[in-house]
Amino acid sequence: MRLKSVFIRNVAFPMMETMKGNQIRRHLRELQASESLSSSGLQQLQDNMLRTLLLHTIDHVPFYKEYAHLRPLIEKDPGAALRRFPVLTKEMVRTEFDRLISDQAKREHMILNRTGGSTGQPTQFYMDRLTVEYYEAARWRGLNWWGIHIGDPCVMIWGSPIELTRQQLQTQRLKDRLLKNQVFIPSFDLHKEKIAEYLDLIDSYHPVYLFGWASALVLFAEFMLTESRKLRRPIKAVLNTAEMLYPHDRLLIEKAFECPVINEYGARDGGLLAYECPSGNMHLNVETAWIEVVDIDTKEPVATGEKGLIVITDLHNFVMPRLRYQLGDVVSLSDETCTCKRALPLLKSLEGRENDTFIALDGAYVNGQFFTNLARILPTIRQFQVVQKSRNELVLRILQHDQLDQVDIDAFREGILERMGKINVIVELVPEIARQSSGKYRTSIREFSLN
Ligand SMILES: [Zn+2]
Repeated sequence: MRLKSVFIRNVAFPMMETMKGNQIRRHLRELQASESLSSSGLQQLQDNMLRTLLLHTIDHVPFYKEYAHLRPLIEKDPGAALRRFPVLTKEMVRTEFDRLISDQAKREHMILNRTGGSTGQPTQFYMDRLTVEYYEAARWRGLNWWGIHIGDPCVMIWGSPIELTRQQLQTQRLKDRLLKNQVFIPSFDLHKEKIAEYLDLIDSYHPVYLFGWASALVLFAEFMLTESRKLRRPIKAVLNTAEMLYPHDRLLIEKAFECPVINEYGARDGGLLAYECPSGNMHLNVETAWIEVVDIDTKEPVATGEKGLIVITDLHNFVMPRLRYQLGDVVSLSDETCTCKRALPLLKSLEGRENDTFIALDGAYVNGQFFTNLARILPTIRQFQVVQKSRNELVLRILQHDQLDQVDIDAFREGILERMGKINVIVELVPEIARQSSGKYRTSIREFSLN
C-alpha cells in the first residue's frame, strides 16, 4: 500500500470531511451494513426512508400539497402511496420549479445541479448535501467490492460538460491531485499523439484504476492494441461511467488494459443508481433511490423483467423532492439473486441511455447499438449518425469520402427500414460528424421526448 494512499485515506480525506462537515465515510459504513441485510430488512429500511420523505413532501412542498389525502396510505404502505403520485417529467420540473422547493429549505444548504440537455432544454434542480454525500458513498461502496478504496490513485479520462474557467480548472486539478489522488485527462480532442502522451502520463502516475467514458476508453484501447502498447504497471480495473458500455467495447478495453471493466450506471440528474459487482451483475443502490419501471405510454408500472422507463425517487433529497422523476432511460429489473449474495436487487438490462433508444413504428424499443452493428458489416461506412426526428422520420448522416459505396448506403437504409418499420429515412452525406461540446461522439440521438 502506497504512502500517499494511506495518507489521503487516513488524514487528508477525514480532514476534508471535517472542514466541509461531510460524513461520506459514515454513509459508506451504513451502506456497507445495509447491503448484507435480508431482502425484507432492506425493504423495511427503504419503506421507512420513503415514508419520511413522502410525509415531508405533502407537508412542505407546495406542488405536492394536494396529495395530503394520501397520508394514511403513506403511513401504512409508502410504496403503494408513491404510485398514486404522478410521474414527474423534466418539463414539469422546469415549469413547476419554484413549487417543488420545500418551504423549509434553507438557501445555504441547496446545491444547484444542471444537466446538459443534448437535444432539449437543460434541466436544473436543487439537492441537499446529504444527497451528494450518499452518491459519493455509494460509489465508494461499489469500488470497495473490487478492492479499490478512498485515496487510491486514479486517472480520470473525462470531458466535463460544465464550463469551468481555466483558473477554476487548475485549482480543481491541484485539489484533486493532492486531496483525492486523482489526475484528470480531458477526453475531448483525443488523437493519436495526445493518446500516446496521456499513456505516458498514466504510466508515470501509477494509478490503481482508471475512470472514464466508454467512448474515450475505447479510443485508448484501440490505440494500445494497434501499437502493441501496454501499461507499465497493472491496474485493478477500468471504470466506465456515464455512457452505455457495449459488450464488444468492454472486451476491447479489457484486452488493452488487461484488467476487468467495472460498469456503473448513473445520471447527472439521477445520481448513482447501480454498480456492477465482481460476479458481473448490476446492483441497484436502493438505499439512495426508490426505483420503478413504468410503461412508456400509460406510465403504469410494468412487471419485473419487462422493459420500460426508469423513474426514480431520491430518498435523501428534502430540499426539492422529485417523486417518480422520469430519467428517460429504458431499463428492466430482475428478481433474481446474485451469486455474490448482496441483498441489493439487480438491474437486468440497461437498454439505452436517455434519447439513444429509438421507438420503432410498432412501438418496440430499438437500442442505439443496433445501428452500430449494422454499420460494422458495411465496409465503406466509416462514421455515421442516426437522428430520430419523430416516430415516422429518421435522418441518417454518413461521412462522405472517396471510397464510400452507394451499395453500403442502400444496405444501411434497408437495414433501418427493416427494423424500424416503413418510416421516412432521409440520407445525408456530410463532410464531418460533429462531436458534442463535451467531446462525446454520439451515433444515435432521438430528438423527440417520450413524455
Ligand atoms: Zn453481485
